[in-house]
Amino acid sequence: MPELPEVEAWRRALNDPVSAFPVEHAGPAHIATLKTFDPPLSTLEGRRFAGAERRAKRLLFPTEDGELVLLVHLMSAGRIRYLLAGEKSPKTAAFCLRFQGGGELVLTEGGPKKRAGVWLLTPEAAEAELEHLGPEAVGLGEERLGEILATEPRRLHSLLRDQRIVSGIGRAWANEILHTAKLSPFAPAQGLSPGQVSQLAEAIDSELARGLALRERGAKDAQVYRVHKKLHEPCHVCGTPLERVDFEEHTIFYCPECQTGGRLLKDRRLSRLLR
Ligand SMILES: [Zn+2]
Repeated sequence: MPELPEVEAWRRALNDPVSAFPVEHAGPAHIATLKTFDPPLSTLEGRRFAGAERRAKRLLFPTEDGELVLLVHLMSAGRIRYLLAGEKSPKTAAFCLRFQGGGELVLTEGGPKKRAGVWLLTPEAAEAELEHLGPEAVGLGEERLGEILATEPRRLHSLLRDQRIVSGIGRAWANEILHTAKLSPFAPAQGLSPGQVSQLAEAIDSELARGLALRERGAKDAQVYRVHKKLHEPCHVCGTPLERVDFEEHTIFYCPECQTGGRLLKDRRLSRLLR
């Protein structure tokens, strides 16, 4: 799933092209992708976007007149691109906007499941839609993070992924961040020392910044991730083979030397706990 660095890299790339010309034609949209019907998509035609914004893992395109917001959530498999005039558009677009001048904003989604969503909202409705999200992960800082951790009786990996608590981090970046912070993915959030809270706050900022810089240069997953999906590859810090553990419905990757004092973590899949 695209997380904060990936979505922010797209936002930066889309900001100028989407605001260069007014929308000429809005749609077509896959019935499962477009989540709203009022106002109709055609309301966008003739209006210009002010640019591209981001909140958590969502992209927002507010219109220049301040009346509408197009909200896009790509989920796991959605991808969004701006095609220049004359570039061939994909046959299977889940959503499309054509601009005066001939450019197109195109959302595609691999696989049979249509989970990505597009909403056309008033600014008030967009605000309500985003209300449940916790603060942005970047720039949270030691003090604010400490307050959040103190109130959450949760394990770190699952807490970092919870968008209501901290927004923008998913399982890939939770793996990278906890490795850099030298913290066990299963460590209870309330049990961290002030030094560990500070390490975690720094790791959140440094890892998400590293991810954004690489994604802006077009780097692929294999070059961006150092821990996520790197089972048995040597840890880039200590050389120990990386391990994996299943927790709830997620697979977590970690270094037993850097993060868990040499211990291997035991699976805590729901299916195993229920047996
Ligand atoms: Zn290591």
